[in-house]
Amino acid sequence: MSKYDVVIVGGGPAGLAAGLYTARMNLKTVLVERGPLGGQLLNTELVEDYPGFESILGPELATKMGDHSRRFGLEIRDFEPVKEIDQEGGMKVVRLEAGDELRAPALIMAAGGLPRYLGVPGEKEYWGRGVSYCAVCDGAFFKGEELAVVGGGDAAVEEGDFLTRYASKVHIIHRRNELRAQPILIDRARANPKIEFILEAGVKEIVGNGKVRSVKYEQRGDPKELAVGGVFIFVGFVPNSGLFKFHVDHDEGGYILTDRNMQTSVEGIWAVGDVRAQLTKQIATAVGDGTTAAVAAAAYVTALRDAARV
Ligand code: NAP
Repeated sequence: MSKYDVVIVGGGPAGLAAGLYTARMNLKTVLVERGPLGGQLLNTELVEDYPGFESILGPELATKMGDHSRRFGLEIRDFEPVKEIDQEGGMKVVRLEAGDELRAPALIMAAGGLPRYLGVPGEKEYWGRGVSYCAVCDGAFFKGEELAVVGGGDAAVEEGDFLTRYASKVHIIHRRNELRAQPILIDRARANPKIEFILEAGVKEIVGNGKVRSVKYEQRGDPKELAVGGVFIFVGFVPNSGLFKFHVDHDEGGYILTDRNMQTSVEGIWAVGDVRAQLTKQIATAVGDGTTAAVAAAAYVTALRDAARV
């Protein structure tokens, strides 16, 4: 069992910003991350919308954020999956899969989320054999092939554009006739001769024999089949809010509800970044969330210390 002032769960931009601030405010802080540091930064090739960095690779920004936080004394435990988060008295208890237990009066939840599954036949079967949820990770395996991208949000359009570095053609299949992605991303994709949009089309099945061969979809009532070597799925995000052993208020999508200080419905717990219900999921907003929560958590820990002294 290890005792801290603050435990942070999740090592993306939100968690790392929170850790930088709490460590710099001399709070004994540990950050746990189930994988490598970076969160969604690791699924982003090029970052062009984080102020101060005109253009930087996602993984490079992740490394910089990690190094920066460590410099202020943040203890980082990466590749340490969390089993559950509990409470005992006023203490928050984070139990790790590996068996250790981290305790602190303040907990900042920054665990982000996972890609949503499409839920069609063939998706699970061909995962890793043509079905992917990460263009940066897997795009290079599809040199010269035709690919399908499913979804109409920022991720689908941006990652579809990225995949044209390798693919001979990328077909973005979206269920409505209107894309949800930001206009700048849509304009860029439309200007790319290797991208074709297939709209008002619902994917029904991913077909293969040992490896993906085609995707079956229905467009305005007509069943169709498109020969592709891979299917990249970007149909949204499921927040990782299920680690709590007790109730924390959330919305119907599982996103944690907070007040303006990132405080959740439970005293001593803040939620930041993609796991939190909010307008958008950007690096800049995640960093802002982490900063706000860190300042609020520091005030909370200081007040507890002062009260204990009286
Ligand atoms: P998203 O914005 O929620 O978009 C999900 C897309 O998938 C929507 O177009 C949705 O269709 C479609 N979809 C959902 N369920 C589906 C299903 N069962 N079958 C077929 N299509 C389905 O998710 P996202 O693109 O992953 O982005 C998540 C967040 O990250 C957003 O806030 C986004 O702004 C942010 N992000 C930003 C950037 C950037 O700024 N460069 C890059 C990536 C992600 P409908 O439109 O019909 O609902």
